Amino acid sequence: MTGLYFHIPFCAKKCPYCDFYSVPYSKSTVQGYVDALLRNLHHYRQPELAVDTLYFGGGTPSLLTPEQVQNILSVAADCFDVQPDAEITLEYNPTRKPDGYLKTLRSIGVNRLSIGTQSFSDKQLQLLGRTHTATDNLRTVQAAQEAGFTNISCDLMLATPDQTENVLSETLEILTALPITHVSAYMLQIEDGTPLSQNEDLLARCPGDDATVERYFQAVHALRSAGFHQYEVSSFAKAGCESRHNLRYWKCEDYLGIGAGAHSCYAGKRFCVPRDARAFIAADVQPVEIVDAHPLDREERLMLALRLTEGVAEEMLSARARKKLPFLEQSDYLRRTPQGNIALTPQGFAVSNAVIAELIES
Ligand code: SF4
Repeated sequence: MTGLYFHIPFCAKKCPYCDFYSVPYSKSTVQGYVDALLRNLHHYRQPELAVDTLYFGGGTPSLLTPEQVQNILSVAADCFDVQPDAEITLEYNPTRKPDGYLKTLRSIGVNRLSIGTQSFSDKQLQLLGRTHTATDNLRTVQAAQEAGFTNISCDLMLATPDQTENVLSETLEILTALPITHVSAYMLQIEDGTPLSQNEDLLARCPGDDATVERYFQAVHALRSAGFHQYEVSSFAKAGCESRHNLRYWKCEDYLGIGAGAHSCYAGKRFCVPRDARAFIAADVQPVEIVDAHPLDREERLMLALRLTEGVAEEMLSARARKKLPFLEQSDYLRRTPQGNIALTPQGFAVSNAVIAELIES
């Protein structure tokens, strides 16, 4: 069983905080890019291999036409054994007017939408350099529901400039009243080299460390109260609506990434495709760089699994890490799950990198 990931690196406008690989949109380049995706699907063809998740990520996959999405899905179904109940997700930027687009997407088999809402405050969206408004967000969710999507995820950005408790509270109130099944709530990261990292004024308006943790708890609490259970550091879902594709990453299960900048954990290796759309389009087969020829060692599994609320079996930890458990449990960073696993508490998730490093470096 595997998952397929398609990286669609085109964006109409670069957001000032974004460090993902993306290139400016042009209609002709996109078609060449889709042709390259199809060539690669044929290259990796394994009709016996079951595929139960497909994910269009970006960039902005909603810049693809429905015909292009359909073409990719039908070639994927020719080249792999795509399961009838496969989860098929597409990331959608609310800048696009939904019109009939979402209905068509749904009719060709896309059954999960991940909407880049980020906030329901126009001021916040403006500060983040997003080109959509809170009204666009609401209209998109409504159109998705009308199009027949029952599995809808929204992105929520935390620790953004001027995001006070009240500002976040208003967004959470709107977000939790929507007919959605999943929320990805992630902290704004200041990445070196991005325009945001050089904007002293905006940086000064970002919450400090304590306020960042408070905003995180505020979101965890509001989402939990609204029936979204936390299953990963940044992921919250209604029962049964966890992202099956993303769970593959954290559980170290196979996925094949196709496209410039795509990552894979496939056939026992981790590899990535260079972040170069032109090179990807020009090549018969996508060039890959091996990131790790022996992936899935204990440390890597541990690091990824600790992101999940189901945690890890104590035996996975080294003897030195196990000695630290009483202290980390007393400090409310770790807990025992009903199954006896070791898992991070909400407090631990708020500083997850540090707690996980403590356990790994032992
Ligand atoms: S739309 Fe998404 S991928 Fe594109 S620049 Fe903005 S944040 Fe980055």
